[in-house]
Formats: sequence, structure tokens, C-alpha cells
Amino acid sequence: MTDTDLIAERENQTPAELTLSLCKDLSMTLAKFPKVRLGHFPTPLEPMDRLSEQLGGPRLWVKRDDCTGLSTGGNKTRKLEYLMAVAQEEGADTIITQGATQSNHARQTTAASAKLGMACHILLEDRTGSNDPNYILNGNVLLDRLHGASVSKRGSGIDMNDEMETLADKLRADGKQPYIIPGGGSNAIGALGYVNCARELVEQAASLGLNIDALIHATGSSGTQAGLVAGLTAIQSDIHLLGIGVRAPKEKQEQMVFDLAQKTADHMGTGLQIARSDVRANTDYVGPGYGLPTDGMIEAVKLLAQTEGLLFDPVYSGKGLDGLIDQIRKGYFDGMNDVVFLHTGGSAALFGYADTFGLPGYSD
Ligand SMILES: *Cc1c(COP(=O)(O)O)cnc(C)c1O
Repeated sequence: MTDTDLIAERENQTPAELTLSLCKDLSMTLAKFPKVRLGHFPTPLEPMDRLSEQLGGPRLWVKRDDCTGLSTGGNKTRKLEYLMAVAQEEGADTIITQGATQSNHARQTTAASAKLGMACHILLEDRTGSNDPNYILNGNVLLDRLHGASVSKRGSGIDMNDEMETLADKLRADGKQPYIIPGGGSNAIGALGYVNCARELVEQAASLGLNIDALIHATGSSGTQAGLVAGLTAIQSDIHLLGIGVRAPKEKQEQMVFDLAQKTADHMGTGLQIARSDVRANTDYVGPGYGLPTDGMIEAVKLLAQTEGLLFDPVYSGKGLDGLIDQIRKGYFDGMNDVVFLHTGGSAALFGYADTFGLPGYSD
């Protein structure tokens, strides 16, 4: 008998009823934290029938966190709902954050700042060395500027946290009240957004009568996966969670996720312990490096655009999908019926990578 069965019996609840009452408890825990509304939630959970048929593995679903609504959407919106609320509580008038040149996090942060009437400074680290005008000016960079943020560049390998602190000192000397949001919004505050997403997804599945076997997504600065691990642990879910890495090697990625998941659990203050064995990352799909295209990513992005009409991105969700598709072919999900891909967004970056896809010109 598992713990879940035991508690269910003790409280005379079916496992399904228990799950829903744990979801309710988690909602109450999260309600203690300040939060500002920035997005459209819950995001849809939709079947990908044509893709499932084509791949011949488990039935595939997509959790549409690309549809969070904020400036073309994406996973940073959930984190920013908690982070921006803290910034407001602390009396901030200026937001500072950092990311890679085509950072989706930077773009959503500039939009959130605009919506809340705050100034926004973003520092963009040149991680790829690309001088392609689309890469350095179009896509997310265009939107950062459109939202009114000031945008500065930094070379690769510079300590971006130091750079943000230096900028904050300068702004304070000018009488501003800056609030620093870490890269990717990945700290114990931001990760609460994905604790809540775990609850949202499980409740949504329950309402559809769907039993999710596995949940897959792209993992980078780790806040998304850390929040999901903490949330799934809180509701005693046995959904198999797998992050597909986009930058760091496996050991480092898993350690980052684990550390942040435990910090997030501690921040929640409910005594939750994270099991190291619940943290899984596959980093075989990074290719030559962060933000650098791979053949698998290109194929995956095209396949989803052409079978499901869905837009994925070259840096994160496209590599995540490459991992999903390849692992289906390798039998990783054998014996599983329903697998959900969490679409973390990023399609605005496609315009920064316009030449990557080798698309044909006009037919006539
Ligand atoms: C930031 C980002 C991720 C990774 O999320 P982390 O919380 O940083 O691990 C995945 N997909 C997209 C599109 C992103 O912008």
C-alpha cells in the first residue's frame, strides 16, 4: 500500500478525491503569497492528435503556457506574477533583469513592467556571438524596445549578477528604487508560478478524466522544473516529470533544479521535502550550445508547425520537442498512455532566427 492509498483510506477518500483535496490545500498555501495578475489562466490543455498519430507512441497533449497572453506569452508570465508583486510591495519603481540576447524572460519582464507602470532595464548577454541583424535586433529584442525598456549589451562570460547589482547601485544613487529579478525569474519566488501550474494541470486533467503519465518540458534557468517538482510533490502526484536541457550538462542541471525545488518548498513553509530522484534532466539535445540551432530542433519546429499548427522556438521549446520526439522513438515512454508537453512559449524568438529554417521562397 502506498502512502497515498493509506491516507486515502484513513480519510475515506478515493485517490482522485485525495488529489483534489491536496490541490485545494496547495491553493491555500499559495494564496498567502502576493501575486499580481499578468496573464490568462488556466492555460488550455489540448490533444495533439496528428502528431501522436505520426509518431505512433503515447497520446500526446500540449499544455499551452505559450498562451499566457503577456506580450506573446510564455512561461515567465507565471513567475512574474509573483516576482512583480514582491517588487510592488517593496516600493520598486524600476525593474532590472538579464538574459541572453533573444531572452523571452526579458521580453515578458519588459511587458510586465510596462503594465505595472515601472521603468525596466534589461542587460542582454551575448551568448552566441551571432551578428545576424535578425538575432540582435528582431524578435524579442524588438519587443523589449517596443515595451519601452532600456536595453544594454554585455559580452559572454561576464558575471551578469554583478552587472545587475552595479546598475542597481547607480539607479539608487539617482534616487530610483530598483528591484532585481534574476535571469529567467528563477528563484524561490518566481518558481511559485510553476508550483501553481502543477496544481492547475492536475486539476485540469482530473476534470477531463485524463490520467497524465508524464510531463516533459524544456529546462534552462530551472525555475519551471523546480516549481513543478515542488508542486507535484505537494500534491503527491506520480506524474513522471522530465526536463530537456538547453544549456548545462545533466549533473549541473539536475543539481540546480533540485536546489531550487527545495528552496521553493522551504519558501512555501509547509515542511515539504524534495526527493532527488524526482529531478530528471536529459541534456542530450543541447547541441553545440545555448541558443545554437540543431538539426533535431529545426525538424521538430517544422513538424509541429506543419502537423499541429503550433509555433515552437529555436532555443528552448524546439529543443525540448526534439527530446520528446527522439525519446518516443527510443521507447522511453513505452507503457505510458498520456504524455503532456508543457509548451513554455518563445515563438517571438523565431523572428530572431529567420534564416535558420531554410524555408523556400515564393512559389511563383
Ligand atoms: C525560459 C524558458 C524556458 C526555461 O525555463 P526555466 O524556468 O528557465 O528553466 C523554456 N522555454 C522557454 C520558451 C523559455 O523562455
